[in-house]
Amino acid sequence: MNCHSCGAPLAATARFCHKCGAQVGGTHTSGWRAGLPWGVAGAAVGALITLIALRTAPRSRLPAPSMLPAPDISQMSPEERATRLYNRVMTLHTQGKADSAEFFLPMALQAYAMLPALDVDARYHIGVLDLTSGNAAAALAQADTIRRAVPTHLFAFMLRARGLELERDTAGARRAYRDFLTHEAAERTRQRPEYGEHAENLDAFHRQATAAAAAKATRGG
Ligand SMILES: [Zn+2]
Ligand SMILES: [Zn+2]
Repeated sequence: MNCHSCGAPLAATARFCHKCGAQVGGTHTSGWRAGLPWGVAGAAVGALITLIALRTAPRSRLPAPSMLPAPDISQMSPEERATRLYNRVMTLHTQGKADSAEFFLPMALQAYAMLPALDVDARYHIGVLDLTSGNAAAALAQADTIRRAVPTHLFAFMLRARGLELERDTAGARRAYRDFLTHEAAERTRQRPEYGEHAENLDAFHRQATAAAAAKATRGG
């Protein structure tokens, strides 16, 4: 299979798109610990999502019922709902189901936009969604926001590298790869929960950053 937005060939067993960082398999757990009271904003979010779906989806683009396991989203917190939509988009994306991924992507971004607060992990999810939709500028904005909050957070370097690659800024992407490698060891010893949840993405990015550094050395810069 191929990544539909970046075109990278993906192994059937891939857990992520190695090119654009999109997660595969939907195994990302809901990492929300803030614990907003469940259902407070949930009903409103659900109503809006339904409204968006009804208004924006031509009948032919509605996903087949078989693709919708229909989780009981009425029982989810807004944060869980956003995470679930993120996972749904990433799963569809890496399964090559471009139309379905595009259908859910705006809903996922909308769900994040309605959260009262965004932590670093949420901003990373938003940035990956932005990359999946080809919106490099939005992903770079999330990278900047993460960097302002936590200057050496690895997710900022990851989003930055991917966003700059999308913009064909090879030199800038290399700097981001290098910054990632510079801070990786110290950052990963901090045991941030989001690092555990995205360990495979971090490992994959490490391999790519190392390869990029080696390629640069071979080419003499
Ligand atoms: Zn991709
Ligand atoms: Zn996450």
